[in-house]
Parts: sequence; structure tokens; C-alpha cells
Amino acid sequence: MRDRVLATIGIGANLGEPQAAVHAAIAAIAALPQTELLRASALYGSAPVDSSGPDYVNAVVQVDTALTAPALLAELQTIEQAAGRERPYRNAPRTLDLDVLLYGDGCISSAALTVPHPRMQQRAFVLLPLAQIAPQLVSESALAAVSDQAIHLIA
Ligand code: ADP
Ligand code: MG
Repeated sequence: MRDRVLATIGIGANLGEPQAAVHAAIAAIAALPQTELLRASALYGSAPVDSSGPDYVNAVVQVDTALTAPALLAELQTIEQAAGRERPYRNAPRTLDLDVLLYGDGCISSAALTVPHPRMQQRAFVLLPLAQIAPQLVSESALAAVSDQAIHLIA
């Protein structure tokens, strides 16, 4: 049997019905093959960073998975497509974005996949939900560095 890995996934949406899209994405991730959903953060609302359009709804989840990192990315892209994801231009608003933030303690640098996600430390919409479910992974200084970014917990 393959080793199982703790993977952390960032979820974002700002078109259509973003809250519903994030809830549906969490359910779809929980249903992935060889994958168990361990923890899901609350939903957060955030102003676009490096993007545009309406405010984003974000969340972070952790899974225990036997999928390889490329297989996990492919599964996440299938979920994005099912949610109507289009890529008209770089950083465009999106119905659903699923990023592999961490894959165990692995460092991956391939054409299709960079892990840890290169911009996660600069983004409050990643660090705050991540700190909620895995506080040991987020330092006080990392949170302080993004404290100027507008983000709120969605009730
Ligand atoms: P972004 O999330 O950067 O705004 P996209 O979701 O359109 O942009 O992804 C563009 C490409 O980024 C994907 O085709 C994927 O191959 C690549 N990519 C590289 N590293 C990652 C990662 N850690 N998680 C998700 N996609 C990644
Ligand atoms: Mg993405």
C-alpha cells in the first residue's frame, strides 16, 4: 500500500455563488478516491489579492491521501472544471480555485506543480484559515506580515 500523506489544500471562489462553491468543493474533496478529509476551516471573506472582481470566499482543508501530488492536482482540477472554472487570463476572477499548499513535507518544483505553494506566506486568505485548523504551521510573524490584508470570518 502507498504511503499516506497529509496534504493541505487552499480553496477560493469569487464568481457565481462563492459560498456554495466552497462548500461543494469541500464535499468533493472529501469524496476523492484514496483520500480522507481530516479538517476544514471556516469560510473567510477577503478582498481580491493579485486578482479582481467581487470579494473572495476562502477556506483551507487538510486531507490524508494516498494520491501522488500530481494525481491530487489532477483531481482538484477536475473539481474546478466541474464548477465551471474558466481561465480567460492570468489571475482572472474564478468560480473555483483549488491549490495544493502543502504535500506532507515535500518540496516539488515541476512545470505543473510547485509545493509548498510559492505565494502562500504572502496571503492572509491562506494563513488565517490554515492557522484555524493547523496553528502549528503558521507563525505569529507570518500572520503579522499579512495583517494589513482585509479578511473576515464568515459566520
Ligand atoms: P493560480 O491558482 O496561480 O491563480 P491557476 O489556478 O490557473 O492559477 O493555476 C495555474 C497553474 O498553476 C495550474 O495549471 C497548475 O499546473 C499550476 N500550479 C503550480 N503549482 C500549483 C499548486 N501548488 N497548486 C495548484 N496549481 C499549481
Ligand atoms: Mg490555482
